[in-house]
Amino acid sequence: MKHSLTLACAALLLIGCAKQTQPTINYNVDKFYDLEVLRYDVPDFDQLTLQQKKLVYYLSEAALQGRDILYDQNCRYNLAIRRLCESIYINYPDRQDPQFLLLEKYLKRVWFSNGIHHHYSADKFLPECSREWFVEAAKPYCSDDLDTLVTVMFDPAVMPKRTNQAAGEDLLLTSANNYYQGLTQSEAEAWYAAHRDDSDEPLWVGLNARLVKDADGRIVERTYRVGGLYSAALERVVYWLEKARDVAENDRQRLVIDRLIDFNRTGDLRTFNEYAIAWVQDLDSRVDFVNGFTETYGDPLGITGSWESMVNFKNLEATRRTTVLADNAQWFEDNSPTDPAYKKEQVRGVSAKVINAAILAGDCYPSTPIGINLPNANWIRREYGSKSVTIQNITDAYDKAAQGNGFNEEFMLSDAEVRLARTYGALTDNCHTDLHECLGHGSGKLLPGVSKDALREHASTIEEARADLFGLYYIADPKMVELGILPDDEAYKAEYYRQMMNGAMTQLVRIEPGKDIEEAHMRNRQLIAHWVLAHADADRPEVEIIERDGKHYMRVNDYPGLRRLYGRLLAIIQQVTSTGDYDQAKDLVETYAVRVNQDLHREMLERYQRLNLAPYKGFVNPVYTPVTDADGTITDIRVSYTEGYVEQHLRYSRDYSPLPTYN
Ligand code: ZN
Repeated sequence: MKHSLTLACAALLLIGCAKQTQPTINYNVDKFYDLEVLRYDVPDFDQLTLQQKKLVYYLSEAALQGRDILYDQNCRYNLAIRRLCESIYINYPDRQDPQFLLLEKYLKRVWFSNGIHHHYSADKFLPECSREWFVEAAKPYCSDDLDTLVTVMFDPAVMPKRTNQAAGEDLLLTSANNYYQGLTQSEAEAWYAAHRDDSDEPLWVGLNARLVKDADGRIVERTYRVGGLYSAALERVVYWLEKARDVAENDRQRLVIDRLIDFNRTGDLRTFNEYAIAWVQDLDSRVDFVNGFTETYGDPLGITGSWESMVNFKNLEATRRTTVLADNAQWFEDNSPTDPAYKKEQVRGVSAKVINAAILAGDCYPSTPIGINLPNANWIRREYGSKSVTIQNITDAYDKAAQGNGFNEEFMLSDAEVRLARTYGALTDNCHTDLHECLGHGSGKLLPGVSKDALREHASTIEEARADLFGLYYIADPKMVELGILPDDEAYKAEYYRQMMNGAMTQLVRIEPGKDIEEAHMRNRQLIAHWVLAHADADRPEVEIIERDGKHYMRVNDYPGLRRLYGRLLAIIQQVTSTGDYDQAKDLVETYAVRVNQDLHREMLERYQRLNLAPYKGFVNPVYTPVTDADGTITDIRVSYTEGYVEQHLRYSRDYSPLPTYN
């Protein structure tokens, strides 16, 4: 499973800021259509040992070698179209020709989507340059299949959808992707039904194969493996994995890599299970990675994995933060402002693993998840557990990029709040998430006899509010500075301001005009903000919404007072939870969480629209370069953050493109 940054989350993440600015790195790289390309940096790479750096480097080469596989999986014409457009792009003499510039835009979009269909909606997008111009420009580079390619590119009726999910249609015949050739949906389903493994430790039949009807009408599997389908790319993946296994951090990690090499060579699904089990048990290594056929969203039947890779390593500072919180869980429980009757005598915090991504590839690139939870095989999760990680440097990159986009300047009251956000925002945002996840959900207890389903349809909203309030109450506690988690007693104000602004105002940009709030996290945030506003002091409000030049802003007058309000609401919400008070839960949700102020909503949408922000984001990767001595021995791996979007894709197409055009 992936936790993706969808359109909905994008707005949320725009409301953050960075703990430090690094002016040498340009985080906003490119923007076209509804897409924006950002850059992420890899903090602490320099703190890795030489062996770990080499491991990251070899694994990142193994990651980039799979790029063509995903293009071909997404549509059989993708590689041909990409290569043709790149040839024109590189060689076309008049770089200012308006038709050429339209082709450039199209090609940028192809790179972003790993093909000719939108990465998110799966709808085909069309080039804006004229068909006639394109045919002329393409002639030097393409002979026999030009007519077909032009039709696939320009005709909206041909292959309109990469993955069709519309019930009632033949999902294979109406999907443009390349997981099946020549089969109807019912033929494929019958084949899977006959070959499915129903044992206790089942093989994931179909994970790494295309189903094809051959010339005699027989259905055969073409397995993704060395010597099989996608061999040229997988050979190179294996080449780099072999280098990686020689610098593995420990025997367990070496076993993981060895099993993956074997699986790429043989395609044997038993080996894949061994690999997945070894991987989920590798918890001590600093460096970790995903490489291979993993997520099944692309296959309309949800069986075959699309190729992806992400190399990462543990973010020690962030992981230390969650460990410190977990170690002190009892102190937080004992000191919370809730009734002692609702507290746990023995509370255990949860320590989460936080990572930094070092390279993104395949289905994780350029658009990437902000969290990963693997493996996907349920029986392995049940028997051996799963790894769930949050990817901190990617979230930070969204925050840093948001600094330049004008969002905070537009919606925050003054420079003071913008500065607060810039100085502390990313840190306090992460810190609040840690408190929410590591302590908030685990705190408190139900009274004897109270069912955990007592709050029914309001349970998620109340539970999220409880965890959020626990975090909000404690982020302002001197204990956070004492534990070394926050630098000073100003920092929490960044989170307080952001939460109030977001909960009462800016999160509305994710709601369609005229609609109410439905999603539990959004309801919880509005519940907290509106309750606090309603209970602020009438004469000297701790916090209020003010109007200036026809625009509305959040103003916090008294931060310690705001903390007291959060504490009061936490006590109420904990009581509702502990006693299973459905009526009060319903009353809180209906009064504060659901209804949208139409005028304010309209204003938020208008102001947001004027900022002209792209709803979808993706990334360019850093570049890793080995430094060698006179004998050719690697003495260091250098990382740089200067490569542009176009440069990067042209380089990848030149250096990491081993597959034939049609596979
Ligand atoms: Zn939660």
